[in-house]
Amino acid sequence: MRTREDFTRWLGKPPPGLEWLEVEGLLGDPDAWAVAAQGASAIPLDVVMSNPATEFSDLYRLVDVHMVRDVRVTMPATPGFMKALRLAAALQLPVRLLPGQPSAESLSELHAAADFYLHDSVVEAPVEFFHSFLAAAQGVISPTLWEILEQDPAIFVRLDIDARVRRSSDFVTTHLRQLVGQNAECATCHWQAQCAGYFKQPDPTYSCHGVKELFAYLQTAAEEIAHDLVSGVPVTS
Ligand code: SF4
Repeated sequence: MRTREDFTRWLGKPPPGLEWLEVEGLLGDPDAWAVAAQGASAIPLDVVMSNPATEFSDLYRLVDVHMVRDVRVTMPATPGFMKALRLAAALQLPVRLLPGQPSAESLSELHAAADFYLHDSVVEAPVEFFHSFLAAAQGVISPTLWEILEQDPAIFVRLDIDARVRRSSDFVTTHLRQLVGQNAECATCHWQAQCAGYFKQPDPTYSCHGVKELFAYLQTAAEEIAHDLVSGVPVTS
């Protein structure tokens, strides 16, 4: 959903079976959010940011919208995204953080974001992929990163502008099988079950040293949470 006209039309007359609307490029349009805040339908929204470092203050437009319908914010983990993540958390909006193939700068922010999610009392809503990774580490669920981030086409079918399926349903399985067959870094990776080669796409030569450290940081945090739960220590996030 990329135009106010389409957005307004789908909000006003959602087709049967519509579960949510993905809205891109409209965060800067106050009129679009004034309509969404009227609550003619309760269709949930996934609001996609393209540049969180510069768009973050536009998140205030979602405050009234969030009072009448579920709203999630999706943002790429590009440098400066922490400003948007902090504000979304303060507004109690759930977040889907898309790491892509993070640069050293973005990796540093991802560590800060994980620390923020784990320890800051302002955080009440889930921040993915941290939330599901930690749950998986507790043995609650065991999705791959592709599934957590809703990018596994076996579950989340996405169409291109000509209504063609963008990726086949076996994309993740094939992708990982090829990487392992080529004896890429994934072949012996400790995080293969959770990641399934997520960080080797689109560039299969991307070095995963930094993301492995992030996984290890989250795993340690999960173990500490599990220990605290057993010990009866209050868990802060
Ligand atoms: S962390 Fe990197 S090496 Fe490990 S499975 Fe994921 S993409 Fe492959």
